[in-house]
Amino acid sequence: MRIVRFEKEGHIHWGEIDQQLVHVLTGFMGEKTAVGFDLTEIQLLAPATPSKIVCVGRNYADHIKEMGNMGPGGDLPKEPGLFLKAPNTLANPEQTVLYPSWTENLHFEGELGLVIARRAQNVKKENALDYVYGYTCALDLTARDRQKSDLQWFRAKGADHFCPLGPWIETELDPFHLQVMTRVNGETRQNGNTENMIFDIPTVLEYVTQFMTLEAGDVVITGTPDGVGPLNRGDRVEVEVEGIGVLVTHIG
Ligand code: MG
Repeated sequence: MRIVRFEKEGHIHWGEIDQQLVHVLTGFMGEKTAVGFDLTEIQLLAPATPSKIVCVGRNYADHIKEMGNMGPGGDLPKEPGLFLKAPNTLANPEQTVLYPSWTENLHFEGELGLVIARRAQNVKKENALDYVYGYTCALDLTARDRQKSDLQWFRAKGADHFCPLGPWIETELDPFHLQVMTRVNGETRQNGNTENMIFDIPTVLEYVTQFMTLEAGDVVITGTPDGVGPLNRGDRVEVEVEGIGVLVTHIG
């Protein structure tokens, strides 16, 4: 199923896409109602209302190499390197995100994202995917200069609208072998595959839920492949994940 969150005539709904029709649901993971709208007549929103967004850094070896972040002796990380984005970072499909005045090096990081289905604590790898409602595309916007100059990544990763998400949640998907692509103004800049993650999704969920409860609707973004780079005002960024679709973000 393709699940959307959308606005129509001032009201926000969850919906299920059936070709050109969107059936309104009773809520997040809710039942279908008799009400439906044409897909072209609704405004898509980020398909999650998380209490937090858990982000995996340094999860593809080629990206670690390009950032010069290898450990001593070229070691890969032994544990997932995590950080948080708050819900203020969410941005909708097709939204224009303003290039902040306090950075001169805003970077794109295209990623596979997932939405949690139910409260998750001390999850085991073997059944971790039972806690995943579905998958979406994420753009982990990063002020690369401030990531280095600030004490924490709070501003560099956590500014308003620094986590565009969408265009929908795909609930039927095997997340282990998906191509993750980022295009800027139509030119392919990132083209990786989730099979090259250092820590796969079950490993990340087992690790996180040992110390942090994930709630229904929380989002996890799983790290970016190599090819990250700077953006300019006026750019059009597309994050495409195989089997999901294309998330478009405009930089203003
Ligand atoms: Mg990232």
